[in-house]
Amino acid sequence: MAKLSDPVTILKGVGPTKAKQFAALNIFTLQDLICHFPRAYEDRTKLVTIDKLEVDVPACFKAMVMNTPRTSHIRKGLDITRVQVADHTARLNLTFFNQKYATEQLQYGKEYIFYGAVSGDFIGYNMTSPVFEALDSAPINTRRILPKYPLTAGLSNASVLKAVQQALAICDPPAEILPESVRMEYGILPAERAYFAIHEPASMEEAEMAKRRLIFEEFFVFSAGLSLMRAARAQKKSTPYGYLDLTAFYNALPFTLTGAQRRAIEDIRSDLLSGAPMNRLVQGDVGSGKTMVAAAAAYLAVKNGFQAAMMAPTEILAEQHYSGLSKLLAPLGIRTCLLTGSLTPKQKKLTREAIETGEVDFIIGTHALVSDATVFHNLGLVVTDEQHRFGVAQRSKLSAKGQDPHLLVMSATPIPRTLALIMYGDLEVSILDELPPGREPVDTFLVNESYRARINNFIRKQVSEGHQCFVVCPAVEENEELDIKSAEVWAQTLQKTVFPDLRVLLIHGQMKAAEKEEVMAAFARGDGDVLVATTVIEVGVDVPNATLMVIEDADRFGLSQLHQLRGRVGRGKAKSYCILTSHNKNPETLQRLKALCKTTDGFKIAEEDLQMRGPGDFFGSRQSGLPVFRVANLSCDLQTLTLAQKASAQWIDTEGTADTPEGKALRSRIGQLFLRAEGTMN
Ligand code: ADP
Ligand code: MG
Repeated sequence: MAKLSDPVTILKGVGPTKAKQFAALNIFTLQDLICHFPRAYEDRTKLVTIDKLEVDVPACFKAMVMNTPRTSHIRKGLDITRVQVADHTARLNLTFFNQKYATEQLQYGKEYIFYGAVSGDFIGYNMTSPVFEALDSAPINTRRILPKYPLTAGLSNASVLKAVQQALAICDPPAEILPESVRMEYGILPAERAYFAIHEPASMEEAEMAKRRLIFEEFFVFSAGLSLMRAARAQKKSTPYGYLDLTAFYNALPFTLTGAQRRAIEDIRSDLLSGAPMNRLVQGDVGSGKTMVAAAAAYLAVKNGFQAAMMAPTEILAEQHYSGLSKLLAPLGIRTCLLTGSLTPKQKKLTREAIETGEVDFIIGTHALVSDATVFHNLGLVVTDEQHRFGVAQRSKLSAKGQDPHLLVMSATPIPRTLALIMYGDLEVSILDELPPGREPVDTFLVNESYRARINNFIRKQVSEGHQCFVVCPAVEENEELDIKSAEVWAQTLQKTVFPDLRVLLIHGQMKAAEKEEVMAAFARGDGDVLVATTVIEVGVDVPNATLMVIEDADRFGLSQLHQLRGRVGRGKAKSYCILTSHNKNPETLQRLKALCKTTDGFKIAEEDLQMRGPGDFFGSRQSGLPVFRVANLSCDLQTLTLAQKASAQWIDTEGTADTPEGKALRSRIGQLFLRAEGTMN
């Protein structure tokens, strides 16, 4: 017997070339191969009669060869073989291209099983290049359910299938990790049966059962892993804070906090009292006031003798947090500093010294905070803003700069709770589901190019009333292949031909950080009427005087992203608007965009986004550190996730520590999953 950890090259027919192709699919070992599950199946079990064959629908049928196959050599490289077959219902002409040797096997008067689709482009029945097998041969391509594997260039489905079957023949599939009690309760196939059945199901029902088991298994491993980590975290000690009075902080605020903000702060307070490190996610729509929640946490950390750090994904945002919070907190005796990449080396050095000696209490910055050069005096609280922009590794790296510091994660991407669990692991969640008073919803419209003049007039109107406008384009530069607006070109057009009398500014991600900051600061000061931008402004930037957001080629963006962009306006007292333009005619796309016009509820929008695009897109390619589920599809298997969570919680409670074979196998699988996810859970 071979071992699961053996390389695929021990298989017959897998040499260096094949091994490379498998590697492209992340398949290195027999285990990888056995866990390379089909993406679909073709049911070739049912035989039909020839008269029941439907045009372009492949099917299996049994037929007798009615003549000797005749091959004509048409030209170099093209041989055509023709043969007629029949069953008791009809006759059928078969045509094969360049399959002379294969077709020579077809013998006059003998019966075979064929699999193929009739084409409708000839008079009468015709079929091109069906696969066929003799009645007494082993069913390989016919009379079975054929798994269809994810493939890569050069690798055929047949060679994957062959390799998988060899692997299953020479080694045992992965060990059972689900306790029998769980399998019984949830009607789950045993591991061995599932691993065979997923590759070689006897029926479509069995394939479904196998798939269900493997999805359940993945979620079970994942949830059990989280539970174990949560248990480990509960063991960690952190001294409960002694000072939890926020009166002075509340009194310093220029406004009254919303109920949701207060509730989130209460959650944080009880975390800080619990004696274990806080591990909390604050989710709230754009503009719900997350910054103040973070400020309250920082205030408490500092008043209890610790430093607090807040990491923002962009310099603009860090700068904005700094300018707002340093003013707010200074009278309360909190020394705030800013650490970003665009400080001069000298400034950076001085700031880092102040951080290390403890001369500053609250450090706001970008990923410069994570750099090895940044050493904290006494880091007790880590806040990450707009968390979805950070690799999870960065978050852990910052945490590692303190001794089990409290962790607060802020996200403006509302996600369903179940997904939050996957994305943020074992975080507790507080939701800000209330906007500060006086906010009117942003009126949103979807228009096409025929509205261009009206859009321009509307921009002019807003500006004449003393307001400012954002215009967001999907690309920075002109792109010949894509017919979409580029920020550079569009800014020029607007300035030169449309609004020569207005001040049009431009900001995009390819500009230097200092340049971006200058432009943003100028716009925030009111030194600009129209800001043409790419999505660099998506995150957090606050310009309360801006009342109009025009998003060009809106179909290029995800719904959640559009919602974020829209959140840039409506932050002041004046009525605000969002105009989405698109020349896309796809009804589904338009439907999607219209959904955005109808609702301003970020959670609903997120749900919609998830349904439409699936979690991969939803989280964006930037999102790293998510566990990779091989079979499970997060957008449709959430129900199974819930069941698996329940089952794993039971398991942890009852048998979790028992030294059963399943327990051991499960622990090793948990290790593998989270190793792959690379530190998702700190
Ligand atoms: P986000 O949740 O998007 O990070 P911010 O924290 O940036 O939101 O807050 C958005 C705006 O609302 C800021 O200008 C902030 O000062 C203001 N704000 C926050 N909380 C309140 C409140 N309770 N009442 C009035 N304005 C508030
Ligand atoms: Mg924010």
